[in-house]
Amino acid sequence: MSTSLTVKGTQVDFPPVCVQCQQPAEATFEVSRSVRFRKRTVTVRLAVPMCATHHAMAMTKNATEQLLGRIGLILGVVAGAGVVAGLFWFWSQRGQNLVAANYLALAVVGAGMFYLVLRLFTGVIAPRYADPDAKSARNAVRITRYSALSRQLRVEIMNDSVAAAIAAANADRLLKQE
Ligand SMILES: [Zn+2]
Repeated sequence: MSTSLTVKGTQVDFPPVCVQCQQPAEATFEVSRSVRFRKRTVTVRLAVPMCATHHAMAMTKNATEQLLGRIGLILGVVAGAGVVAGLFWFWSQRGQNLVAANYLALAVVGAGMFYLVLRLFTGVIAPRYADPDAKSARNAVRITRYSALSRQLRVEIMNDSVAAAIAAANADRLLKQE
């Protein structure tokens, strides 16, 4: 079973122990969640405390993850360059003079495409192939919801006694425990 805590604000205070084994924390692992709010992207980040062992597990990428990261990098470059070349061709076909603004637009679109593809591979696809140990360390605390409007953050904590300690540390801002 896991516990979900909803707190007011964008931060959660953690007791200085590992969220997986409750040994003294020696490092932090960042978890984040991005939401769209008023046409902007808002990202909340938490520095989750971990012991050295679980931190190392969370940070370790197996061969499959590393390979997918490299594929993402290559496909990102190909997609970015492809979009730039395509737009360049489109504009030159229409006899449009390529002024500085066009080159700037090309650079932005190309970089955006590169980032999107890379992010898809490293942030979405690769983590699915992580080792079970890595997965459970990375997911010991997850941000499951953030409302930028009401500034409420919901985190899911896999270890119930860790969750109870975190609930106590945030008692003054705790809205819901389920
Ligand atoms: Zn630990």
